[in-house]
Amino acid sequence: MKKILALLLATMMVFSLVACGGNTDETAPETETAPETETAPETETVPETETTPEEKTELVLATSVDFPPYEFYEGEEAVGIDVEIAAAIAEKLGLTFKIDDIGFDAIIPALKSGKADIGMAGMTVNEERLLSVDFTDSYATGIQSIIVAEGSPITSYDDLVAVGTYKIGGQLGTTGAIYATDEFGIDNVTQYTTGADAVLALTSGKIDCVIIDNEPAKAFVAGNEGLVILESQYAVEEYAIAVAKDNTELKDQINVALGELIADGTVESIVAKYIVAE
Ligand code: GLN
Repeated sequence: MKKILALLLATMMVFSLVACGGNTDETAPETETAPETETAPETETVPETETTPEEKTELVLATSVDFPPYEFYEGEEAVGIDVEIAAAIAEKLGLTFKIDDIGFDAIIPALKSGKADIGMAGMTVNEERLLSVDFTDSYATGIQSIIVAEGSPITSYDDLVAVGTYKIGGQLGTTGAIYATDEFGIDNVTQYTTGADAVLALTSGKIDCVIIDNEPAKAFVAGNEGLVILESQYAVEEYAIAVAKDNTELKDQINVALGELIADGTVESIVAKYIVAE
């Protein structure tokens, strides 16, 4: 026990030194968590402290807050399924939680450079991404849907294939846009910065359809008159949390935390809060 206390004290000293080193942001959470660790000498709490890397006090989520209901703004606040799951994981790991809204394309680079710890943005696991990052277990299924204007000649995926030259829009760097580009060619697919931009292009008649994940698709269709989602599903995918390739320890910790949050119904209740069952 003495050893553990000595270790904790040493750790706290390192933290205060780090704090003095100029990163004032980190002083607040650290002083908050330190007394907790001190006043809880019971053996149960020790393993928890041990599994958290000692230098780590914060879990930084890289995301793109433009993907309702997984992440979107409610006033100034980023909310949504991913945000709440990430916050619950941070809590389980005893870490403070910070959101970095950096755009979908910037998520993987931020993980690689260590600027962020986890990436969540309704992010589909695919082979190309697995070359750059690792993914945790999946926490949701996503479907790539096709949105068209009411009365559009495109009534199914087969119509897209039959004509082959319809103008398709998607969100930059997302699987819907990538797969459509592979299938229909770069000349027929425009990748917009956000899904909302793609939908705007559709409502203003610049493109014939948008391929995008089903939940944001529903939100966009609800928010814009004259749009419909086709029944054909363009792709069925799994969403998971991305971590840097060398961060196996964090990935394993997250999988344990995520497993618990799934088993105890937390994930389900977070999803139910944002997605009303049909
Ligand atoms: N699921 C898609 C992907 O991973 C879209 C994610 C998003 O736009 N946030 O590419």
